[in-house]
Amino acid sequence: MAAALTPVGADRLSQLTTGLAAVRQRIGAACRSSGRRPEEVTLVVVTKYFPVSDVRALHQLGVDHVGESRDQEAAGKAADCADLSLRWHFVGQLQTNKARSVARYVDVVHSVDRPALVTALDTAAERAGRRISCLVQVDLADGAAAGRGGVAPSGVAAVADVVAGSGSLRLGGVMAVAPLGADPARAFGRLAEVAASLRTDHPAASMVSAGMSGDLEAAIGAGATHVRVGSSVLGSRPPLRYRPNR
Ligand SMILES: *Cc1c(COP(=O)(O)O)cnc(C)c1O
Repeated sequence: MAAALTPVGADRLSQLTTGLAAVRQRIGAACRSSGRRPEEVTLVVVTKYFPVSDVRALHQLGVDHVGESRDQEAAGKAADCADLSLRWHFVGQLQTNKARSVARYVDVVHSVDRPALVTALDTAAERAGRRISCLVQVDLADGAAAGRGGVAPSGVAAVADVVAGSGSLRLGGVMAVAPLGADPARAFGRLAEVAASLRTDHPAASMVSAGMSGDLEAAIGAGATHVRVGSSVLGSRPPLRYRPNR
C-alpha cells in the first residue's frame, strides 16, 4: 500500500471526529436560529494542505464533499481517493492552464470569475466527458481586496451568461469570501441580493457558497447553501504545503 494511503492514527481520527461534530452542531444551531433545515446546507470540508489520509478518514466519518484550492495537490488526492464516492470542490483561484487537469476530477468550481476561464473549463469538461457545476465568485469588496479573485456584483450576470451558454458546464450559482474586516452578515446579505438577482434570469442557479470556519453562522443566516470549512474541522493548517506522495 502506498504511504499516502496509510490510515490515520487513533488520535487523529478522534480529533477529526470531534472537529466534525462541533461544526455539524454549529450548522444545526445556525439553521435553527434562522428557521432553516440542516438539509438545506451542504458542508464542504476544505482539506487543503492536509494529507490524503485525513481525506479518507473524513469520508469514513460521513463527509461527502471536500474542497481544495491548488490543482496539483487536489489532483493527487482525487487520484488517491478514486475508490471513494467523494465530490471534489475547487475553491481557490484557478489559472486557465489548469482547467484541463481540474476537469478530470472536479464536480464544482467555486471560483469562476472571467469568460476566458469559462471557455477553458467548458472545452476541458467536454474533452473529459464530464459536466461541471460552476459558481460565479463575487468580489464583495468591489476591488478593494485585490488578488482574492471574484467579479464585482455588476459583472456577475455577464460571466453567468457565458457559463449558461456553454455545452458542458452547469450554472450552479454564486460564491464569495467575506472581505477582511467587513461585517460578515452585511457582506453575505449583499451576496444574497446578487444571488436573487441571478435567479431571475437563471432560476436553477440556486447554490450560494459562503461561510468559512469564522463566519459560517452569518452565512447560513443569509441563506448559504454550501459552507466551506477547513480549520474548524481539521485544525490549523500545516505551514508546509502538502506534497503529493508520488
Ligand atoms: C481555505 C479556504 C476555506 C476554509 O477556510 P477555514 O477558515 O480554514 O475554514 C474556505 N474557502 C476558501 C475559498 C478557502 O480558500
